[in-house]
Amino acid sequence: MNEVKLAVLGSRGSGKSALTVRFLTRRFIGEYASNSECIYTKHLCLDGRQMNLEIYDPCSQPRQGKLSLTDELHWADGFVIVYDISNRASFAFAKALLYRIRDSHIAACKRVVESAVFLVGNKQDLCHMREVGWDEGQKLAMDNKCQFSELSASEHCQEVVTMFTTVLRTIATN
Ligand code: GDP
Repeated sequence: MNEVKLAVLGSRGSGKSALTVRFLTRRFIGEYASNSECIYTKHLCLDGRQMNLEIYDPCSQPRQGKLSLTDELHWADGFVIVYDISNRASFAFAKALLYRIRDSHIAACKRVVESAVFLVGNKQDLCHMREVGWDEGQKLAMDNKCQFSELSASEHCQEVVTMFTTVLRTIATN
C-alpha cells in the first residue's frame, strides 16, 4: 500500500479548495470555508496500485495553519501549485512557492521529484478577465521543470481529475 501526501498550495482565493473538492467529490463547491485548513484522506486504486492519499489544503491566512511552509515542503511527496489567471498577484505568489520548493529539493537532496509538481492556472472560465497569459504559466513551469495546465474548477471536472491523477501517478512511480 502506497502512502501518498500531496499539498495544494497557492494564494488565498486562487481556488485550492475548489480544485481539491472537485477532485474528491467531482462537485464544484462555490463557497467554501477556506479559513480552516484540512487534510483530506482518500483511498484510491490507480493503475491497479492501492494508494492511501492525504491532500493538505492549508488555511490561506499566513501562518495560522498547523504546518509552516517549511513543514509543508517536507511533509509532501508532491505539490499542486495554484494561481488564478485573473489575478496577477496570485501568479507572483505561485512563482515564489516554486522557488521555495526548488530550494527545498536542493536542501533535501531532491527527495521530491521535480515532476511531482503541477502548476495550475485556475479559473480559466474567467479568461475574459485574464491578467496572466497562458505562455507565462507555461514558461514558469518549464523553467521550474514542472507540469502545467490551465483549467477551471468550476467547469472542467475531467481536466481537474486528470491533473491530480497525473501528479499521483508521477509520485507513485518514483
Ligand atoms: P482557496 O482560498 O484557494 O481555497 O480558494 P477557494 O477554493 O475557496 O475559491 C475562492 C473563490 O473562487 C470561491 O468564491 C470559488 O467559488 C471561486 N472559484 C474557485 N475556482 C473557480 C473557478 O474555476 N472559476 C471561477 N469562476 N471561480 C472559482
